[in-house]
Amino acid sequence: MDDIPRLPEQYLEKAKDLARLHRKKKNCKACYDRGYLGTNEQNLLVTCHKCVDGDEVTKAWCSLVRETPELDAMYGDYFEDDDSKKTAAVS
Ligand SMILES: [Zn+2]
Repeated sequence: MDDIPRLPEQYLEKAKDLARLHRKKKNCKACYDRGYLGTNEQNLLVTCHKCVDGDEVTKAWCSLVRETPELDAMYGDYFEDDDSKKTAAVS
């Protein structure tokens, strides 16, 4: 998975908004109520598993990617085969 392009900084803010939108509880010591723990090597947001609904964030992020031509060009391929990829990620 190290061929994933690095996320441009302006979209990181969008990702943070999505994480905040999909938090399931109000007080979280793991992420200090930010909804994320940090970013990975690709500058992608590492959401908080304790308070953020990961499935919902992933869905919202996929929609955002599809609606944003620049992101679609960078990441669209990674979402095309949704079901098989999800299975692969879980197993
Ligand atoms: Zn949290």
